[in-house]
Formats: sequence, C-alpha cells, structure tokens
Amino acid sequence: MSQLILAAGDVVFREGDAGTCAYMVECGGVAISTDGGARLLSKLGPGDLFGEVAILDGGVRTATAVATEDTLLTMVAGEDLASRLANSDPVVVHLMKAVIRRQIRQSRGDVDTGLSASLTDRALLELRREREIRDALERGEFEAFFQPIIGLEDRALRGYEALVRWRRSDGSIVSPGDFLPVAERNNRIRAIDLQILDQACRAAVACVRRSPSAAASDLFVTVNLAPLHFRDHAIVDELERALATTGLAPRRLKVELTETAFLESSDSTISVINDIRALGVRVCLDDFGTGYSSLGYLHRFPIDTLKIDRSFVLAMMNGERGRKLLVAVLAMARALGFDTVVEGIEDEPVAVALAEMGCALGQGYLFGRPMEHARMLASHGTE
Ligand code: C2E
Ligand code: CA
Ligand code: CA
Repeated sequence: MSQLILAAGDVVFREGDAGTCAYMVECGGVAISTDGGARLLSKLGPGDLFGEVAILDGGVRTATAVATEDTLLTMVAGEDLASRLANSDPVVVHLMKAVIRRQIRQSRGDVDTGLSASLTDRALLELRREREIRDALERGEFEAFFQPIIGLEDRALRGYEALVRWRRSDGSIVSPGDFLPVAERNNRIRAIDLQILDQACRAAVACVRRSPSAAASDLFVTVNLAPLHFRDHAIVDELERALATTGLAPRRLKVELTETAFLESSDSTISVINDIRALGVRVCLDDFGTGYSSLGYLHRFPIDTLKIDRSFVLAMMNGERGRKLLVAVLAMARALGFDTVVEGIEDEPVAVALAEMGCALGQGYLFGRPMEHARMLASHGTE
C-alpha cells in the first residue's frame, strides 16, 4: 500500500476514469461529486474509504474525487483488496458488503437495495473466483483434455483439440464455461492458455513418440488462444518457446482464434497471425457462423482452417436452401485454400451429409468426447 499527499483542489480521479485502486482518507478531506463537480455527493474525512465500487463492479469511476484541503490518502490496490476480502473472516466480509451496499446506494441516489445487493454479491463472487483462479494457476490445476478431430471421408484420426479443464483439489472437474469468462476479464486467461499450450505440445510429442503411425501421419494438436494474445507479438515468442522446449514440429501445432480477435484490432491481429504462420504453425478461425463472420471479409484473414460451428451447420441442414448455402460456404472455403472442420457432430447422418458436401474434417461427441491426457495416449496403444 502506498500513500498520496494532496493539496486542496488536487483531483484523485475523475468520472469516467478506469478504476484500479481504492483510497482511505488518513487525514484531510475529499469531496465526491458528479456532473463535473456540479453535484456534491459526499464529503469524506479521516477513516473513510472511497473508490472501491469501481474495483468491485469492474466499471469506471462514476464520480469525481477532489481533495478539499491538505490530505493524506492510502491507496489500496484492487488486487490487494481482492485478496484481503478473500482471506477475510465471513463476518468482516458481511460487514464490508453492508458498507459497500450503502455507498453504492448513496453514490447512485438509488433506493433499490435489491439491485445493489446483487451487484455487490456478484462483485464479491467475481473477486473470489479471481482469487481461486490465481491459486489454481499456481498449483497447476488447469489441465488440457483432448478431443479427436477426424477425416470425415475415411474416419481416420487427424488430430486433437486441446480443451482446458480445471481439476480442483477435491477432484471435481470444472468446465471452461464456468471460469473462462472471469479469467478473460482479469487477463488470467493469458497464463491459462500458455499452460494448456505447453501441455498440448508435450502430449502431441508423446503420441508421436509412442505410435509410429502417428509419427508417419500429420497428426496435429490445436490450442485455443483468447483474443488478447493477438494484441501484440509476445505470443509468437511463446509459441516458439513451447515448440523449442517440447520438440514438437511446428506443422503439428495449430492455434484457434475467434473473430473477436479481429474485431478488437484487425491490423495487429493480422500481423501477429502472419508471424505465427511464419513459424510454420497453422491458424484456424473458430466458431465460424456464430458471430459476424461474413463471406465478405473472410478473404482478408490469413488463416489455414475454417472451423464451422455446430449451430450454423444444424441450421443449414434444415431444408434445401440451407443445404445449398452450406455447400457454397464449403466451396468458398476450399476456393480460398482453407481446410474445413465442422464441430459438434453428434449424429451419423450429419457426418455422412457433411462428408458428401466435401467437408474434410469433423469433431464431435459422435467421434469422441474430450478426454484426459492418459486416455488419449493409451488410445495410441503401445505400437
Ligand atoms: P470451442 O473452442 O468451440 O470448443 C468446442 C466445445 O464444444 C467444447 O466445449 C467441446 O467440449 C464441445 N463439444 C465437442 N463436441 C461436441 C458435440 O458433439 N456436441 C456439443 N454440443 N458440444 C461439443 P468446452 O470444452 O466446454 O469448451 C468451451 C469453450 O471454451 C471452447 O469452445 C473455447 O471457446 C473455450 N476454451 C476451451 N479451452 C480453452 C483454452 O484452453 N483456452 C481458451 N482461450 N479457450 C478455451
Ligand atoms: Ca476451439
Ligand atoms: Ca468452436
């Protein structure tokens, strides 16, 4: 915790600023106002805490804080507040919640306690999850499971997609839907993805070593990378490092990204992808058909594989026009030089129809569920 000395009129933060820490008034005074200072919400003095709401709800400052006299503040980092809360006695947490609830009500002129309470509960839950994720990363509890990707024509194994699972200390397995949203919001996803990348590379090397037929084939492993990796080139070094330390051939590695990465920053994403491909690693656009994906801009993306979402395929299979559209999408992907994978294949008729339409690869419960590393390895026998 560090301290801040202010003179009368010094601004601590303004409405709309990103909130990364809270403050405690040690001595002096602070005025909290909105509407550019026109509306005074409260005057704070020694012992008062302020600015914690933005940290708890992950939003921006909803008010401006200005020192009214010579003032000494102690800054409490968001992270610090989170760990303190997580370590606190339940009674302290309860008290804390009551105080925060009152402050949220005051700062909003809000009388709806239900709304504020649920906001506080959500914020506290998020803080707890965040803390748990950090601990889980330290303890190595994130584990790659592997789902087979097969050739739809010959039904032979072509590769695996690595999918993260959280194996908690009590042995329970948590699905990504239950922790990735929090991990994405607090950027822990970066470390999770890198741990899965390492595990996936090691697993692929183990398969290839164990099975001569896998070694002779182009067996690959794909890893999912969150959009934030494509904001800068650090991921290129990470991929290079993972390949070097595990000894996996670059052609056996694919990365999957969603179009959100392009929406966030198209130019940097394209340049990062070009560098990834220069390593010899292939790139797959995931979830095609679920977002804004349009045929119009696909040609701009320097990708190797188009992964078509289950929902898109199911919608297309309903009727002749839909079928024709799907055939056209597959033909267009081929014309652009992309491989195609359809994911979420659960029934045989869908698999057969897709093979007839010329889709090369498929993935889904029909062929195999995501499985743990040991099972994946065992499926390669002891050739
Ligand atoms: P995704 O990349 O689209 O992965 C496919 C999801 O569909 C997986 O869910 C998989 O278990 C599920 N699935 C596979 N076959 C079928 C099927 O036949 N029917 C149905 N209904 N579902 C099927 P999972 O493992 O729960 O992962 C959910 C999402 O979490 C993934 O969607 C991906 O977006 C994300 N994710 C998973 N692992 C990672 C990771 O290591 N890093 C990042 N950044 N994201 C990950
Ligand atoms: Ca994926
Ligand atoms: Ca997908």
